[in-house]
Amino acid sequence: MINKVFSAKQLDEKDPLFNKAEAFSLPNDTIYLDGNSLGPLPINAEKRASEVVKEQWGEGLITSWNKHQWISLPQQVGDKIGTLVGAKQGQVICCDSISINLFKVLSAALKMHPERKVIATTRNNFPTDIYMVQGLLDLLGDEYSIRYIDENHVGAQLTDDIAVLMLTQVNFRSGLKLDMKDITEQAHNKGILTLWDLAHSAGAFPVQLDECNVDFAVGCTYKYLNGGPGAPAFIYVARRHQAAYKQPLSGWMGHSSPFSFSPDYVPDTSVKQNLCGTPGIIGMSILDAALDVFDGVSLKAIDEKSKKLQAFFIAEAKRANLLEELKVVSPPLDNRGSQIAFAHEDAYAICQAWIAQGVIADFRAPNILRVGFAPLYLSFADVEKAVSSLATIIKEKHYDQDIFKQRQSVT
Ligand SMILES: *Cc1c(COP(=O)(O)O)cnc(C)c1O
Repeated sequence: MINKVFSAKQLDEKDPLFNKAEAFSLPNDTIYLDGNSLGPLPINAEKRASEVVKEQWGEGLITSWNKHQWISLPQQVGDKIGTLVGAKQGQVICCDSISINLFKVLSAALKMHPERKVIATTRNNFPTDIYMVQGLLDLLGDEYSIRYIDENHVGAQLTDDIAVLMLTQVNFRSGLKLDMKDITEQAHNKGILTLWDLAHSAGAFPVQLDECNVDFAVGCTYKYLNGGPGAPAFIYVARRHQAAYKQPLSGWMGHSSPFSFSPDYVPDTSVKQNLCGTPGIIGMSILDAALDVFDGVSLKAIDEKSKKLQAFFIAEAKRANLLEELKVVSPPLDNRGSQIAFAHEDAYAICQAWIAQGVIADFRAPNILRVGFAPLYLSFADVEKAVSSLATIIKEKHYDQDIFKQRQSVT
């Protein structure tokens, strides 16, 4: 047995974010290692939910569009998200889902580059990102195509027939984190527009969209941003592109003057053009309140704690001799996001057995046990307990039972 350098208790005592867990309503007997899939409920989000439903909707009725500024909520929330992803005001708007936002941005980007006909991405990107390209290509016809490039050598595969390079900064399965600044620069050297998906980045570590000169980005808010199931997503359009940007889902909320009720569509010239139909105010209000847990917290501190939690998890797993059986398939700490992927042929059953013990992680097909680290509410003591429970499950083959093998519809 390897001795511990620091105990969980010592690490928790030194943790500047330790008290942040109080901002969340988490069940007592649960250790949550899945905040990268669905963040937990912030207490002020719960309060806001009842306020927006009972007071703003219930009592204010339609007057709340003005009185409670529902109408400008997408921009207000967009700017709040902007501060977390390194975007100056007026470049981020909150709307729809990542999938829908990808359709808008890809269409607009292709239109800005009419002489180029290729969208480049990685084959192991999150499936919806690829599916949305496939659907768009089907609409556009044979002239356009998708090209799959290897995530480990992006630079070498950038050619000047590519219109848009669509990448997810952190791979959902392995956790591989791409170098946004370097890749964006190399793409620009070939005249390629960049579209970054921040699903596993926003709220997990510092992202510098402006500084990296990124053209477009999308992201969701129900993972590390804790906005709740199906919370609205966001779009970033760099200010320099806003005048030329034109997305095809030309709904009335993206019109420059929606309440003129004119029969002709005139696109808004700001990032607001990305709005399509009436925004879901209840969900967006909950997200607005949820984002306040980031007040006074630096993303650098979150990133530093995540790295310590991950290193502690691995050290504990090593001490328990788990790493022979559970193979780490993530890149090294500095090249990955806030998650670790372990491969095991019974990963699904192990995950289910772990959940039965009160530790929630997730399974990603075909054989990955994915452990997410959300430093705002996860303690070192949680990690210690989680690994100890995992050790029991694996050593005693506790997962080898039929009840843990039956696949549920959501994994
Ligand atoms: C979670 C995730 C999505 C989800 O897309 P939705 O349309 O919001 O359901 C998309 N892309 C990536 C990379 C993701 O991790």
